[in-house]
Amino acid sequence: MRSSSLNRKRGLTGKSGLSKSTRPITSVIEGIQTSDGAGVKLKRIIGSPELDTLDPFLLLDEFKNDDPKAYGSGFPSHPHRGFETVTYMLHGNFRHKDSVGNEGLLTDGSVQWMTAGRGVIHSEMPEQTEGLVWGFQLWINLPKKLKMVEPAYQDIPSDAIPEIVRDGTTVKVIAGKLGEQEGPAQTKIGALYLDIYLQGESDFVAPIPEGWNGFLYVYEGSVESGDGTTVGTGHLAVLGMEGEVRLTGGSSGSRTLLVAGEPINEPIARGGPFVMNTRGEVLQAFEDYQNGVFDKAVS
Ligand code: FE
Repeated sequence: MRSSSLNRKRGLTGKSGLSKSTRPITSVIEGIQTSDGAGVKLKRIIGSPELDTLDPFLLLDEFKNDDPKAYGSGFPSHPHRGFETVTYMLHGNFRHKDSVGNEGLLTDGSVQWMTAGRGVIHSEMPEQTEGLVWGFQLWINLPKKLKMVEPAYQDIPSDAIPEIVRDGTTVKVIAGKLGEQEGPAQTKIGALYLDIYLQGESDFVAPIPEGWNGFLYVYEGSVESGDGTTVGTGHLAVLGMEGEVRLTGGSSGSRTLLVAGEPINEPIARGGPFVMNTRGEVLQAFEDYQNGVFDKAVS
């Protein structure tokens, strides 16, 4: 489903809604080059020394490569428990399989929203289209009461993601709500995931619930925030917790992810692919994995 119109001025572009404050940018970070899985070169932005966590977000990776050797043998069979992974492919394919035979292929512009819950074992294999693999993986934490829910997959094809087009701005609403437009992803906690294309110097305004954490990640061009901060390509801007996001695209246009979510405010215990509340729960996850409990977890 695509929508090419927006009847409300607020919530997308324009100068209206100025009575609300601008959500400030509190820091800008670059992330680090690293590799994961079986030799996949990637950039880790959240989950890095500069930004360990932005509650509820545990990790953000960007993988962008035109050299198949740079993504090696992908991410072979590995487990997860206690959170969700959201993979958004700008370019290229991402083939996933799990231990009980679920299989899916993400193609250009599509999203996989996976709830690991009590346990998933899966493999994730990037594949080029037209010589390029480019995408993002975001990890969203789950609160204690949802960490052991049934695992679930949502494969969302590109043409199921609504696009709002107005005044030089195109916004894909992947999750959450912008104006009257709701994204297709079913989220376990409150979350907003937008992909915003601003043609030269066009404006964008998005209300975000007060108290939510959020960030901008500019993956092409640059944007200027309403607080006067310019954010360039490959930089992540952490947003304050109050006010509306206001952006103006750089003169040559820009592409930016805007992601926000409801903080969970619980202790975080990380152990590689498991994210729980306590060390004991992480050790239990390793034990369950070794004992084959995860093999039966996905149904
Ligand atoms: Fe994974």
